[in-house]
Amino acid sequence: MKKIIIANWKMNPTKLADAKKIIEGTKKIAKKSLSDIVVCPPFPYINLLSGSKRPFLGAQNMSFEKEGAFTGEVSAAQLYSLGVQYVIVGHSERRAMGETSEVVAKKACAAIQSRISPIICIGEKERNQNAEHWQEIKWQLVDSLQGVNKTNIKKCVIAYEPVWAIGKKSVGPMNPADVAESAIFIKKVLAEMFGPQIAEGVRIVYGGSVDGKSSKDIMRAGGVSGFLVGRASLKPKEFEEIVLACSAK
Ligand code: PEP
Repeated sequence: MKKIIIANWKMNPTKLADAKKIIEGTKKIAKKSLSDIVVCPPFPYINLLSGSKRPFLGAQNMSFEKEGAFTGEVSAAQLYSLGVQYVIVGHSERRAMGETSEVVAKKACAAIQSRISPIICIGEKERNQNAEHWQEIKWQLVDSLQGVNKTNIKKCVIAYEPVWAIGKKSVGPMNPADVAESAIFIKKVLAEMFGPQIAEGVRIVYGGSVDGKSSKDIMRAGGVSGFLVGRASLKPKEFEEIVLACSAK
């Protein structure tokens, strides 16, 4: 399956000049790569990559509403008209602001209707000895895919991001064996929903403190089709390491 590496810049960088530099660096990496590279900059910088395919342009969020009186919101059709091909929905930082899986599902369906591929984020907040995280992952996935059918699930990317592994304050990346176990579990739930053959074709990526080093280990043993990268996507050299890890045999 073709690998995919998604750069989530979040609300960075502060200056346009710095955004241009990171984009130039990322373009060079994307040109040489056989994987799909997606850059999701904050909205003010989206025009810098309008219509780009190497890397693909992505957005970090969108509204499920079509148009109208929704101050501060951006629609899927507007994003599509700017050449956006992917959109992150349900990132844990947005779920922490109150976004429910029901809303995530509406966003995913609205994106698909506008010919944009949703990158649907799921992941447990914590792990404990009772192993409740499996139920949390299962229901986030099932609820976030309401309305998605056997045809358009193929357009979706599932980003498995355990919340405890994301960001500066986290404990660091999940170990590869645990990533593999989660990927199998997600595939199993997808198989129950859409059938094993279709589930096999859905790209599942891992996100959470991925850097040059951890990407190699996870790519080797994690059973995923790529990564969703936060901090390291702002450093082209580090990002290149991650992209190279995805092309290693
Ligand atoms: C993310 O924002 O989804 C993420 C994985 O961030 P980081 O790589 O910085 O942990």
